[in-house]
Amino acid sequence: MITISNITKKFGKLAALDDVSINCNSTECIALIGPNGSGKTTLIKSILGMVVPDDGSILFNNKNIAHDWKYRKHIGYMPQIGKYPENMSIGQIFDMMKSIRKDDTISLDEELFTEFGLDKLLNKRMGTLSGGTRQKVSACLAFLFNPDILILDEPTAGLDPLASEILKEKISKEKTKGKLILITSHILSELDDLVTHIIFMQDGKLKFHKPFEALRSETGELKLSKAIANIMLKPTN
Ligand code: ADP
Ligand code: MG
Repeated sequence: MITISNITKKFGKLAALDDVSINCNSTECIALIGPNGSGKTTLIKSILGMVVPDDGSILFNNKNIAHDWKYRKHIGYMPQIGKYPENMSIGQIFDMMKSIRKDDTISLDEELFTEFGLDKLLNKRMGTLSGGTRQKVSACLAFLFNPDILILDEPTAGLDPLASEILKEKISKEKTKGKLILITSHILSELDDLVTHIIFMQDGKLKFHKPFEALRSETGELKLSKAIANIMLKPTN
């Protein structure tokens, strides 16, 4: 589905991505993890075409994404920090997004929208929202057009425990539909029940990409946090 080959992205002298190659397929739920500044967001933005790599290529269903933006309608993206026109209300934001997409063939998925109670906050202006409510708006937009691929950058950051749980349930539900889900989180315990594969980044490099089961049997640890700690403490050769 997504084939990333040898991509490199430099910001000045710093290589935010350094010769990264990754294959992702439908039905996979991938945890993208790594320390701050390891290149996770840059990788996600490269897949979305928001960052253009200096080198290498990204294919979506065997087609190069460069100069062809149409693939993006298949991706629902929840950014780490959602930026919106501050004067617009929640209702206006959703109306605008729907009218931009204007696609009658898609049945809208407004499940999260009602579960988060955003239907009761339609007149609230974006500029007045708390961080958590803003995150809810971002989450709902990511799921709204029922995309085949979900890319979620720190989705539960800033959400209260109940909202966090609602969102995790929703991700889980979409996973059973065979979608490709790429998710970053600092709270590894959240990912335990969800993910099938792990991508670990460090200093812009891909350290490993493997099934969670393989990581479990390699480390003898059931929990993702323990398995990662185990692997990080191992001497490398
Ligand atoms: P992560 O999401 O893993 O925390 P990022 O992909 O955001 O990491 O960043 C990787 C590195 O690239 C960091 O050192 C960050 O400061 C740098 N970086 C990211 N975006 C930019 C940018 N637009 N300009 C300059 N440096 C950037
Ligand atoms: Mg990031």
